[in-house]
Amino acid sequence: MTHRKLTQAELLAEARARFGDDPMDWKFTCPRCGDVASGRDFREALAAHPRKNRDGSDTIASDVIGQECIGRTLGALKGPATDGGKGQAERGCDWAAYGFIPGPWEIVLPDGRSVHGFPLAEARS
Ligand SMILES: [Zn+2]
Repeated sequence: MTHRKLTQAELLAEARARFGDDPMDWKFTCPRCGDVASGRDFREALAAHPRKNRDGSDTIASDVIGQECIGRTLGALKGPATDGGKGQAERGCDWAAYGFIPGPWEIVLPDGRSVHGFPLAEARS
């Protein structure tokens, strides 16, 4: 996967162009395992496997989509870690865009900071 730098506005415009206005329909591809997950997939995964953010609030789909492989919500962090990062997840792996190998996309926020993210999926995947 190739590195790409774009602004948050550009990312949102591209997501809308590919998938429509509803962020639940937006999809990102995990650069490690290739899993394609939508906002809806994350919402269902989080309903079945509730998590908390570091500040104690409930994790919602928009907190993790494009940032983490859905496997991290579905049990990839619960060993064994010898199976390509899949752990106990029924799909996905333990990859995160903010991990040791970041990105591959870099999104520049309005305040000038940038965050790393997964690439948007192809429109028909
Ligand atoms: Zn993955």
